[in-house]
Amino acid sequence: MNNVHELTFLKEKIEGLKADGVYRKLPILEGANESEVILNGKKVINLSSNNYLGFANHPRLKRAAIEAVEKYGVGAGAVRTIVGNMDIHEKMETLLAKFKREEAVMSFQSGFNCNAGTIQAIAEKGDLIISDELNHASIIDGARLSRADKTIYKHNDMDSLEEVLKLKRDKYRNLLIITDGVFSMDGDIANLPDIANLAEKYSAMTYVDDAHGSGVLGESGRGTVDHFNLHGRIDFSIGTLSKAIGVIGGYVAGSKTMQDWLSHRGRPLLFSTSLPPAAVGSIIEAVKILMETTEYTDRLWDNAKYFKEKLGKLGFDTGNSQTPITPVIIGDEAKTMEFSKKLFEKGVFVSGIVFPTVPKGTGRVRCMVTAAHTKEQLDRAVDAFEKVGKEMNILK
Ligand SMILES: *Cc1c(COP(=O)(O)O)cnc(C)c1O
Repeated sequence: MNNVHELTFLKEKIEGLKADGVYRKLPILEGANESEVILNGKKVINLSSNNYLGFANHPRLKRAAIEAVEKYGVGAGAVRTIVGNMDIHEKMETLLAKFKREEAVMSFQSGFNCNAGTIQAIAEKGDLIISDELNHASIIDGARLSRADKTIYKHNDMDSLEEVLKLKRDKYRNLLIITDGVFSMDGDIANLPDIANLAEKYSAMTYVDDAHGSGVLGESGRGTVDHFNLHGRIDFSIGTLSKAIGVIGGYVAGSKTMQDWLSHRGRPLLFSTSLPPAAVGSIIEAVKILMETTEYTDRLWDNAKYFKEKLGKLGFDTGNSQTPITPVIIGDEAKTMEFSKKLFEKGVFVSGIVFPTVPKGTGRVRCMVTAAHTKEQLDRAVDAFEKVGKEMNILK
């Protein structure tokens, strides 16, 4: 093979993407991630960020970031186990634990590597990971990195979960049930109370990835565990600091034992530099705001309800969402991308999500309503949906 450097095999795959109508370039954002943005040179209403609370460009968070930079510099300079564990990292984790109403928190540089690092550190050969079929990619990668066996249960289906538990309980040492708290592509909430009951019945551990529940569900965004009042009954509660919190990072909330173990065996913590001071400073400020007021989460839910009702009345299929994530299901992959493109032309950015991110034939545009949107922006977005929906015969 003397032409490997030309990456012919990748060029062929890229041609395949084009043939399927799913090829795209990365969109370019000019300026901060706000409710209305300049994207690819065009002013559009932004319905695709995970910036649920509008914290990504919040003045208080920005000021806290600048203050942290003045005091601690721009980089942590080392991994946490050497000399990169600053007092603000500790302060952030203590505050997060208090906010989450759990004993302890261990933070990571992202939600993705929090899952990858934590799952591989807590599951090993002789254990079984039992995963919801719609779990996030970073959970799948974390499970692959561990040497545990894996099996999936049907999405949020408690009979399917119990069947696995019954069949497998005696064949393994530890069982670890893993679920998203809020499913990112559909916006539905995991049945955590029943999962906790089943886990107790079969002596399994529970692991909830609450990336889309953090800052959204529960009292002032304390998450899905708080929403169901299951404190003390979920072993590993994962949150992201990159979505509603508006910055970057991920964490596990749970027991002191968990924190102690991950500080020795969480590979991203041992082999990758810790979060930069600016991020840590602004995360602390974000959590302080949430502990002071429910104003942001209240506005988020009010906007989400408003938008979802309007789309539903027009006749769009918004799936089974129970959260501000609002999918508008189109079906066909190419048609989904076309729908998204036409909305963009009308001044609304909502990205098309298709296979392999979601199952084939369930293409959708996924609307992310935030606390930062005004009702006027949401009205304009709904108008564009109506026009494009009629133009493409999705609406009657
Ligand atoms: C976004 C997401 C992650 C990754 O979080 P980042 O902080 O962006 O790396 C992990 N799990 C789920 C369910 C997510 O939606």
